Amino acid sequence: MSGIYIHIPFCKQACHYCDFHFSTSIKKKEEMVQALAKEIAMRKNEFQDEIVETIYFGGGTPSILETSDIRFLIDEVYKNYKVADNPEITLEANPDDLSKDRIIELSKNRINRLSIGIQSFFEEDLKLMNRAHNANEALECLKVATQYFDNITADLIYGIPGLTNKKWKQNIETLLDLGIPHISSYALTVEPKTALEKFIQKGSISAPDDSVAHEQFLMLVDILEQNGFVHYELSNFGKPDYFSKNNSAYWLGKKYIGIGPSAHSYDGINRSWNIANNTLYIKSIQEDKLPHEIEQLSITDRYNEYVMTGLRTVWGVSLERIEKEFGKNYLDYLLQNADKYLKEEKLQLKDNVLKTTRKGKFFCDGIASDLFFLT
Ligand code: SF4
Repeated sequence: MSGIYIHIPFCKQACHYCDFHFSTSIKKKEEMVQALAKEIAMRKNEFQDEIVETIYFGGGTPSILETSDIRFLIDEVYKNYKVADNPEITLEANPDDLSKDRIIELSKNRINRLSIGIQSFFEEDLKLMNRAHNANEALECLKVATQYFDNITADLIYGIPGLTNKKWKQNIETLLDLGIPHISSYALTVEPKTALEKFIQKGSISAPDDSVAHEQFLMLVDILEQNGFVHYELSNFGKPDYFSKNNSAYWLGKKYIGIGPSAHSYDGINRSWNIANNTLYIKSIQEDKLPHEIEQLSITDRYNEYVMTGLRTVWGVSLERIEKEFGKNYLDYLLQNADKYLKEEKLQLKDNVLKTTRKGKFFCDGIASDLFFLT
């Protein structure tokens, strides 16, 4: 199983918390689409023996493109790669781009999964985060989208200053009432050099409270599990048959090609990442040069990545795989460092697989970094 990720580096406006690569100027939109198409073709040899099972438009805001541009890029993938019969084709979209006509148009152009950036159904939260949509658009686009798409995922953010537990519960329940089968949810984090960081430093917004975020995370896990969702990755919850194939492949270490500025790729041995600059990306592609840097992963890098993703997911970290792939030294190191967390019941060892418990899940990135092999 392998996938193609296409990064669309444009947004209408900058959300205050965001540190992804995007530009709010769409002057180079047409040149960018041509460059993305060219990169898709330039890299076809990397997947000579692979069947593409997922195509994922992420960003940025992919829905900012015309549907014809999105269709053009999908067709370029079909032209240059072997594509599975029924691939998962996801488009990240923001509610302000999803009118009824647009949703219908997208449903007729090979997109079969929508990932909608709702974040909250409350106006004050959307304003605080500087989202481009309003609360009404958040609700209305989902009502229409569910009529034309079966496979929908919605994003929600918790731990927003001012988001009470009551409002948080309402946000989750609204998605449940609408029958959304997959939810991705993240704590609001303060990334360096973002507007949110500046507002907090100036005192105009209070800093997110970790204990509130933890409480809201546990509410999310409990409510969704009670409603038939599987918590299959730290931030992802899906009804059976609705797990993201694209993201699952990534967490399970499968190959993927990342197209576009800032996009990352993995071929099973090497990671590479494209330059995070729209102008330089377009120029380089126009000159027939891939604007990327490549890093060959060492055995320690691969061990660390496996521990990190394993602890975040329902699949856990297989001790058998650790020993087979990385050797006894790594296994001993892992068990020695996991001991403290096993005693604290933040980790559990069952059937030779190490997993985070309900108590440990929220802290799993910190736990994983304590289990990293340091060279
Ligand atoms: S729409 Fe998404 S990518 Fe764009 S600024 Fe907001 S969070 Fe970042």
